[in-house]
Amino acid sequence: MNYDIIVIGSGPGGYVTAIRAAQLGFKTAIIEKENLGGICLNWGCIPTKALLKSAQVFHYINHAEDYGLNKVEPSFEFPNVIQRSRGVANKMSKGIEFLMKKNKIDVILGTAKILKDKKVSVTDKDGKITEYAGSNIIIATGARSRELPNLPQDGKKVIGYRQALSLPEQPKSMIVVGSGAIGVEFADFYNTMGTKVTVVEFMPNIVPVEDEEISKHLEKSLKKSGIEIMTNASVESVDTSGEGVKANVKTANGNITLEADILLSAVGIAANIENIGLEEVGIQTDKGRVLVNEWYETSVPGYYAIGDLIPTQALAHVASAEGITCVEKIKGLHVEKIDYGNIPGCTYCHPEVASVGLTEKQAKEKGYEIKVGKFPLSASGKATANGNTDGFIKVIFDAKYGEWLGCHMIGEGVTDMVAEAVVARKLETTGHEIIKSIHPHPTVSEAIMEAAAAAYGEVIHI
Ligand SMILES: Cc1cc2nc3c(=O)[nH]c(=O)nc-3n(C[C@H](O)[C@H](O)[C@H](O)COP(=O)(O)OP(=O)(O)OC[C@H]3O[C@@H](n4cnc5c(N)ncnc54)[C@H](O)[C@@H]3O)c2cc1C
Repeated sequence: MNYDIIVIGSGPGGYVTAIRAAQLGFKTAIIEKENLGGICLNWGCIPTKALLKSAQVFHYINHAEDYGLNKVEPSFEFPNVIQRSRGVANKMSKGIEFLMKKNKIDVILGTAKILKDKKVSVTDKDGKITEYAGSNIIIATGARSRELPNLPQDGKKVIGYRQALSLPEQPKSMIVVGSGAIGVEFADFYNTMGTKVTVVEFMPNIVPVEDEEISKHLEKSLKKSGIEIMTNASVESVDTSGEGVKANVKTANGNITLEADILLSAVGIAANIENIGLEEVGIQTDKGRVLVNEWYETSVPGYYAIGDLIPTQALAHVASAEGITCVEKIKGLHVEKIDYGNIPGCTYCHPEVASVGLTEKQAKEKGYEIKVGKFPLSASGKATANGNTDGFIKVIFDAKYGEWLGCHMIGEGVTDMVAEAVVARKLETTGHEIIKSIHPHPTVSEAIMEAAAAAYGEVIHI
């Protein structure tokens, strides 16, 4: 069977690539060994947000009196919370099935391996092998939870994100190793539901890729909500021989032992580069990722790679954008390269964190003279009405030309606001143009305009 485009993997990289390819008139097939939608829909972005929503509703009910309502004692069955999240994931995966049909994309279920001469073999669940040929092969096999040698996952007491999304019962206590977006989101969910959570982070700050002020603020907020946080600390070894887990943690003041029911390892991801035929075809990898050029072509012509498999930001929206760019280039369209400096990043804990562009430290390191503006959500009418005043907006402009270098936000709802900064930066909007762009009242988004005004000494509400 011959196709113009064969996509391997149906995560947000693969399935979006396939749809765009079909729109462009390519005869397209997509191969998937698990569930349509990949990690993002089944074990990542979507089911975590479903859990966090349950936790948020639980939190609101617990704080009913803050809103003038009568006190209630909410209760829950943990398996039902998990079931809701799994249901949301399944629904989204079914949606991808529909989109594949709608776009006349052939879905091939099985495990793919690339072969020479742009062929792909697929082994189905019964062990039957079928070969397919494509003019272009796009590999989007994604990634899995990274396992450290001193932190082997047994799936029961030392777990990765898949188990954390589907535990049969709620642990009384949990150690979360790693405080990137995944670690912090799980820490927030389990803590809100009543699990005693301790976060262990190797770096000096949690959410280490964020602006330092944001990281520090989040640390304070999460501690206030009951999460114990240890920074500059690393888990050296784990002992699972007893009832729970004992983690030997190295800290600045010597080693200590932490005990909990479960340890969640959230120390990053490992790309799925093994057993997919890369070596046989001669495709180059480096540090566990597939090497590609600016149009996502690998070292062997006709074979492309996108998403978590390549050394760019491991985010769903990045994977999708790479896939679209890749097929549009194959089609011969005039395509813009992806600007990896303008990719928003979001963490959906409470308060949420969202950012795009340079942190203050990075801007200074790059030699910019900067103007920084900040606006606290405690001065926002909408945030006060919402009862969510924890957080602030921080914007960084180049002092010379007014270029918007970075936007860093912490607070309820900021993940839905960061797109404004992405678009504005794409359009090379200056600080003054942001101040003069009238934002609707009352919205939390006004805080962005106010933060910009603060950078130029024109802030109104503080
Ligand atoms: C807990 C968690 C939360 C996350 N939250 C967010 C978030 O909020 N926002 C965000 O942007 N990102 C988030 N991410 C990251 C996001 O999920 C990934 O960046 C994204 O899924 C990468 O997409 P992808 O298409 O490259 O790969 P994947 O989504 O990993 O999909 C790869 C697919 O390929 C299939 N596959 C692998 N090998 C083969 C083979 N040999 N043959 C056939 N099929 C194969 C796999 O089964 C899988 O379905 C989260 C990740 C996790 C783990």
